[in-house]
Amino acid sequence: MKTHDSQQPDPHAAIRDAVRDLCSQFDSAYWQKVDEARTYPEAFVDALTKAGWMSALIPEEYGGSGLSLTEASVIMEEITKSGGNAGCCHGQMYNMNTLLRHGSVEQKKKYLPKIAAGELRLQSMGVTEPTAGTDTTKIKTVAVKKGDRYVVNGQKVWTSRLQHSELMILLARTTPLDAVKKKSEGMSIFLVDKRKVPTKNMTLRPIRNMVNHETNEVFFDNLEIPAENLIGKEGSGFKYILDGLNAERILIAAECIGDGHWFLDKSVKYAKERVVFDRPIGQNQGIQFPIAECYMEVEAADLMRYKATALFDAHKPCGAEANMAKHLAAKASWEAANVCLQTYGGFGFAAEYDVERKFRETRLYLVAPISTNLILSYVAEHVLGLPRSF
Ligand SMILES: Cc1cc2nc3c(=O)[nH]c(=O)nc-3n(C[C@H](O)[C@H](O)[C@H](O)COP(=O)(O)OP(=O)(O)OC[C@H]3O[C@@H](n4cnc5c(N)ncnc54)[C@H](O)[C@@H]3O)c2cc1C
Repeated sequence: MKTHDSQQPDPHAAIRDAVRDLCSQFDSAYWQKVDEARTYPEAFVDALTKAGWMSALIPEEYGGSGLSLTEASVIMEEITKSGGNAGCCHGQMYNMNTLLRHGSVEQKKKYLPKIAAGELRLQSMGVTEPTAGTDTTKIKTVAVKKGDRYVVNGQKVWTSRLQHSELMILLARTTPLDAVKKKSEGMSIFLVDKRKVPTKNMTLRPIRNMVNHETNEVFFDNLEIPAENLIGKEGSGFKYILDGLNAERILIAAECIGDGHWFLDKSVKYAKERVVFDRPIGQNQGIQFPIAECYMEVEAADLMRYKATALFDAHKPCGAEANMAKHLAAKASWEAANVCLQTYGGFGFAAEYDVERKFRETRLYLVAPISTNLILSYVAEHVLGLPRSF
């Protein structure tokens, strides 16, 4: 099957080959095993870290390889294209951007070399709260400054990978909502070093969910964070988070592109091999056409993904493109998943073919990190100038 990389010289061929090579050591049996046991794919993340891919975005002066977000997105794409699940490691990529773009030199010197060396992980980000939902400005977690520290109280939900990460980016209100001019003001972000937190001040409750994704409810009870761990300016955290969320959306778009190609590849192979009524099922247009349509949708979404990464890397506004890339790619991969399941018929439901696992995994991206309706309303309001709906 022709894919993006076989149509023209690929500037990222070396990265693709190296990541593919690493991923080939973690086969379908590996992913099925961790999925069934609902365990963290420690060996895979360890191998990625040792090979330097987890520190791809860290500048060379801090021990990383100083790659761009475009290149980081290729790493994520190759993981899902190989049949793996990048949800176990993508946090480090997008959280890194928040620290790189808005952290102080002291913070970077303190943490980045250790992250690059694989001694620390920055995999976790606590934004979502149970009552606020997508309306982030209504978060109730507060951080009150007391001398040289902030004292945090509140609760987060869906905080992913925190059991497997020493560091977390945390969003909290530092000025009450009714005391700010704009509701997006008065929130701040902090780097929480879990190693320094007594368990009584931060409790985790794991959430068992549809996919093998380590995620938690987190409760803060007088959690003390040194003031030096405030990232950027107090009160500007929402702006920084949005910047990080653009990186997150773009990386997730790339993961969906990888998923899309995985489903297409499986569909094409199976449609050629499976013989029913004395002919390969792929000879029937009822099987061919949906696969062809999905291929077009994945390829089209990929163009938007590269537009978004180019803007992000050029430090240009990319909110619309990041959202559109994520939306188009998540929709395309979900459609490809559905078509793949249909092409496999009953066998699509058997765990040994991986289709049902990848089907569940890619479904997540129509909801998280931002759900479809919220992207549509962003484009309607901010790109098309339609009246604000909420
Ligand atoms: C597996 C998983 C991992 C996650 N990891 C993290 C993480 O690491 N860190 C983190 O901070 N968060 C994380 N999240 C949270 C995720 O970002 C949110 O679930 C997502 O943004 C949707 O928010 P919500 O669940 O609060 O939905 P809600 O805001 O409650 O919305 C529910 C539904 O209503 C729709 N809706 C809401 N308002 C409107 C409106 N005005 N118009 C039209 N439709 C509307 C939404 O689109 C959605 O479909 C994770 C979620 C999951 C499931």
